[in-house]
Amino acid sequence: MLRGFDTFRKRITLLSGGLLLSLSFVLVTSFYQLTSTRLSNASGESLVSLSQSISNMLSANLLEREREIRLLSRRTSLYENQDLSALQDAIDEIRNSYKDYAWIGFANASGTVIASGNGILKGVDVSQRPWFIHGRSGPFVGNVHEALLLENLMPKPKDGSPIRFVDFAAPVMGENGDFKGVVATHADWSWVREVLLSSLTEASKRKGIDIFIIDNDKKILYPDSNLFSNIEVPKPLPKDGQFKSLIWQDESEYLTSLVSLNSSESSNLGWQIVLRQPLSSAMSAVKEVHTLLLFLGVFATLLCMLLAYQFASTLSRPLERLAQTAKSIQQGNRKETFQDGSQLTEIASLSRSLEEMMSSLLVREQSLMQMNLTLETKVQHRTAELEASNRSLKEAVRLDPLTHSYNRLALDEALLDEYRLAKELKRPFAVIMVDADHFKKVNDTYGHTIGDIVLQKIAKLFAGVVGIKGMVARFGGEEFTVLLPDTGGPEAKDMAEMLREAIEKEEMTEGLYITASFGVALYEIDDNHYEQVLNRADSALYKAKETGRNQVVMSNK
Ligand code: GH3
Ligand code: MG
Ligand code: MG
Repeated sequence: MLRGFDTFRKRITLLSGGLLLSLSFVLVTSFYQLTSTRLSNASGESLVSLSQSISNMLSANLLEREREIRLLSRRTSLYENQDLSALQDAIDEIRNSYKDYAWIGFANASGTVIASGNGILKGVDVSQRPWFIHGRSGPFVGNVHEALLLENLMPKPKDGSPIRFVDFAAPVMGENGDFKGVVATHADWSWVREVLLSSLTEASKRKGIDIFIIDNDKKILYPDSNLFSNIEVPKPLPKDGQFKSLIWQDESEYLTSLVSLNSSESSNLGWQIVLRQPLSSAMSAVKEVHTLLLFLGVFATLLCMLLAYQFASTLSRPLERLAQTAKSIQQGNRKETFQDGSQLTEIASLSRSLEEMMSSLLVREQSLMQMNLTLETKVQHRTAELEASNRSLKEAVRLDPLTHSYNRLALDEALLDEYRLAKELKRPFAVIMVDADHFKKVNDTYGHTIGDIVLQKIAKLFAGVVGIKGMVARFGGEEFTVLLPDTGGPEAKDMAEMLREAIEKEEMTEGLYITASFGVALYEIDDNHYEQVLNRADSALYKAKETGRNQVVMSNK
């Protein structure tokens, strides 16, 4: 899991970064939730209070209109005169005092308009109009309705919305308490629009607050322009004087407040003021703070990771240097030292211990090397000794102990070598077999010891005469063999003759002279063993004995 984060430094950095990031995330999220709840409550409450003030303004306005018409209905003297000019004046006065009275007039007891502002609808029968029917029995405020009789007499609103009125009516009673008729006014619905627009401050507009007036059936009375014609309010709406967050028709979430219109008994229209504000605009401030805090969190994390990296570096660098030094020492660099002057006590102590361990190891290494060297010299010495003793053993095995000439073993080896060379190189060799004449007599006459001395002398004599030309071996008893490599018949015969003469002339011991007989044989190309050469030499020797002794006989094959 932590592959790639294999150093102390990287792990500390990752750990601190992870911790701080999680911490910032948790803090920022809790802060966001806390502040967004508070802000949404605050926004909701301010929506409710705005609804309240709109409701107050509207109801005050309605009451004002109602009061005006009621006052007009009570001026009984105006309705007593037949010419009605005073009534006409009063009507004109009221109409001029409030521009939104689209129509104001008086209908007599049978429902015919007999006086009106600008004479509009004069003489028209209004007995079936709700305001007249209701107005006969007491003060009446009618719900908003579209213009019927007045439609063609009024200028059309520019935004295409229909002409709508709210009717106010009150019965007129004569001084005798008799019913005289109904006085009424149609207030242009646009006054509501003005009241609402004036209640919305610039700040409210910026916040995207929309105002709705709905009736008892939750039908939207305001706004009445085409733009809002398809809008329906979401259900259930908050309770009177409260707010809640609701999803409207456009799938957006809005903080929505509801306040019922305060009204007098006669004007209980059941209107409710609904305000909505997009939740996103209500939350925009907290969102900005949230984003800012997130940025700060990430920045603080990066900064902390940098600091952690540097801090971890101060711990891990000396350790890395120690590891590097150890590696360098292991690779053979004995001049390296662990003392790196770290400020950290633990690291400095570790360096010291390693340094001490290193020097003790070095001392041991030196002494081991020394021991190794001594051992090697000793082994070399012993090996040389062993080789020398082997050599002398090998030599001793091949020497005759009495005469120090070569023995039969040495002779056989030399003969085999020579025979092979002769075969390979086609070069000759010769063998001289020698036997002391009447040696038994020497022993018998002078004793065995003198016999031995004589044998020794013969060996020495032969060695001197043959020299490097050949090899002298004691064949056995008083018999000797001389091997002459690369030697042909004449040279061999000469050599045998020289040896015969040398013995003959030599005074072996005081007054003792002896002779010897010689048989000479040469290697023949068709020989298949050196023994054949020996045998021929022996035969020649036998012949020399037979034919008088002290002579050389050449084998004639
Ligand atoms: P021939 O001329 O026929 O060779 O007569 P010979 O007496 O030399 O021959 P023979 O074979 O009868 O006798 C050889 C003698 O050599 C017998 C033996 O006592 C003697 N001899 C053999 N080896 C040694 C030795 O190592 N030391 C001494 N002192 N005498 C030896
Ligand atoms: Mg003999
Ligand atoms: Mg003999």
